[in-house]
Amino acid sequence: MKTFCGRANPTTGSMEWLEEGEDYDYHQEIARSRYADMLHDKDRNVKYYQGIRAAVSRVKERGEKAIVLDIGTGTGLLSMMAASAGADFCYAVEVFKPMANAAVKIVEKNGFSDKIKVINKHSTEVTVGPDGDMQCRANILVTELFDTELIGEGALPTYEHAHKYLVQEGCEAVPHRATVYVQLVESKRMWSWKKLSPVHVEAEDGEKILVPPSEMENCPGVPSVCDIQLNQMPSSDFTTLSDVVTMFRVDFSKPVQSAPTYYRVQLEPVKSGKAQIVLSWWDIDMDPSGMINCTMAPYWVKPTSALQWRDHWMQCVYFLPREEPVLRGEKLYLTACRDEYSVWYNLQKAREGENEAEEEEQEAGVGVESPVCRCRAHLLWNRPRFGELNDQNRTRHYIKALRKVLKTDSVCLCISDGSLLPVLAHYLGAKQVQYFILVFRSLHFSLVFFKANHLEDKIKIIEARPELLKPSHLEDKKVSVLVGEPFFTTSLLPWHNLYFWYARTAVSAHLASNVTVLPQSASLHMMIVEFQDLWRIRSPCGTCEGFDVQVMDDMIKDSLNFRESKEAEPHPLWEYPCKSLSDPQEVLTFDFTKTVPQHCLSTEGSVNLLRKGKSHGAVLWMEYHLAADISVSTGLMQMPNEKGNCEWNPHCKQAVYFFSSVIESEILSDPTAVTYAINFDTKTGEIAMDFKL
Ligand code: SAH
Repeated sequence: MKTFCGRANPTTGSMEWLEEGEDYDYHQEIARSRYADMLHDKDRNVKYYQGIRAAVSRVKERGEKAIVLDIGTGTGLLSMMAASAGADFCYAVEVFKPMANAAVKIVEKNGFSDKIKVINKHSTEVTVGPDGDMQCRANILVTELFDTELIGEGALPTYEHAHKYLVQEGCEAVPHRATVYVQLVESKRMWSWKKLSPVHVEAEDGEKILVPPSEMENCPGVPSVCDIQLNQMPSSDFTTLSDVVTMFRVDFSKPVQSAPTYYRVQLEPVKSGKAQIVLSWWDIDMDPSGMINCTMAPYWVKPTSALQWRDHWMQCVYFLPREEPVLRGEKLYLTACRDEYSVWYNLQKAREGENEAEEEEQEAGVGVESPVCRCRAHLLWNRPRFGELNDQNRTRHYIKALRKVLKTDSVCLCISDGSLLPVLAHYLGAKQVQYFILVFRSLHFSLVFFKANHLEDKIKIIEARPELLKPSHLEDKKVSVLVGEPFFTTSLLPWHNLYFWYARTAVSAHLASNVTVLPQSASLHMMIVEFQDLWRIRSPCGTCEGFDVQVMDDMIKDSLNFRESKEAEPHPLWEYPCKSLSDPQEVLTFDFTKTVPQHCLSTEGSVNLLRKGKSHGAVLWMEYHLAADISVSTGLMQMPNEKGNCEWNPHCKQAVYFFSSVIESEILSDPTAVTYAINFDTKTGEIAMDFKL
């Protein structure tokens, strides 16, 4: 069987579907999976074990046999916990074949083969009866099917089905219940991920304001969850407007309904402000009494307990459809709507003198339709991209650089996806300057955006790929200023925006001999780091709560060796703190004033480890040199401080290359050197790297 896998191709700026062998997506899934992270989540594991022990005891105390159904067994961990706790038999269901195979091996290695039956099926395909997968219905239901949004991995339909067909009435469930909490906040930073703010430009002839299209004003955006490591968001970046409120609960020991519904709570702001964002997280009670509780509450809610770091469960940021000024003490209704897999929020003000009946009426009017983007910008830009475009400091650098390069008689061509650059350039340049923008993905948005700023006649949109650009598109003129941020929606790794270089090469024939290219060049930078926590996602577990899960470690290692370990992966490092162990180093430069060369660009060298710490990997990012002395970084924002703490660009993902083994640098008088070889293949646009510790 062949599988097709989407990959960004930096030489064409497109997503391409590559045919891969049958094993490919297995390996991809395992290598990049969150299984290791879950097994490292001590808090989760300990509490599951406590909850399972308590559930088995309750059943035994009733004089019943303990028959467990573990849906989504993964490594078999929760079934092994149940068997150790004295369960009579466990049915361990796992839909993902490589994991089911691993579970069989792990169960056997730990000596539980006679107590645990691994069933490689989706739970909705499992049969019960003398000839079925299960001899009888279970009386203990154990699962861990939750994502950051709780229901995004299909927990509700799975539970609904299990209660109907696979477990006994009145069964014990671990976890017993989940509770979803919300808090209303105002946050300029997070709101900037949803909506474009007007941009103020000081032009020669006074201040100009670049306005977002009106469609964007009340656009509800897209329903995809925004999950982040909220614990990395400093309290200075938001203001809480309400207390923490319980939004809804799901009792997993009773029949569960997955059909779309809504929940409504009344809340009174503790502070006046602009309601923009609903922050949300959940906790699970492993037992009915709620004594064994596992919570995702962020630092300001549970300041006393040590926070468990985890990446498989984080916190959610929901954007209200529009910002709403609220007053301290006024009566508000917050509605959470959900379908089977996702949640979204609405805020309403209670009307003056409203009574119960009116409230119900209002309640009935609550729409349960999921948000659909009307302005198209949310389909073109993801949330970090909105943040980037709203970053005034970044915009200032582009304005400064554009001022330097634009001349009265410039012919300016812009290549970037859904960029504000042509509008900025228009406001900054002289009247005679001619503007063209090459679009091949963002036509609709560009039209709407230029119209909103009355620029439809001032900037000519050319709907063509760079290689198909014709002299007539440019009214037979040669381009004297070529600009790009560069930004392309298909880029995953920092160097994928080098597509700008390929596009520049493709339009070479249309460029004047003395063309100015903005950015004039880019450089790739690299630094060796010790991660505070991110290392866990790639670190072997060995044993987990006393169970040998090495089979899983080996499987991940195998999959990493298949391909992934030779590649860097994108991570937004503002969410994943690390300490620099080496100085940042510029490793490659890309000269946009020239065309892409035929030959590869390679470099070799070494970096010294200057600080004590564990070298988990290398971080790589791009810097763009817009014009003389004006650069923007997509990685490090300034030199690390003396302790090695780093500040990362909050709108970009950096590339992380995990080392296969970790070294600990100790002696600083004789610093250890890490040697590297980095190769940019101009044919594929990919960067390969190798490090020796
Ligand atoms: N129980 C393990 C693994 C949890 S990850 C642990 O706690 O460590 C969730 C697993 O459930 C994944 O392996 C996924 O493939 C599987 N899964 C999700 N929904 C399922 C379903 N309805 N039936 C069978 N397996 C499912």
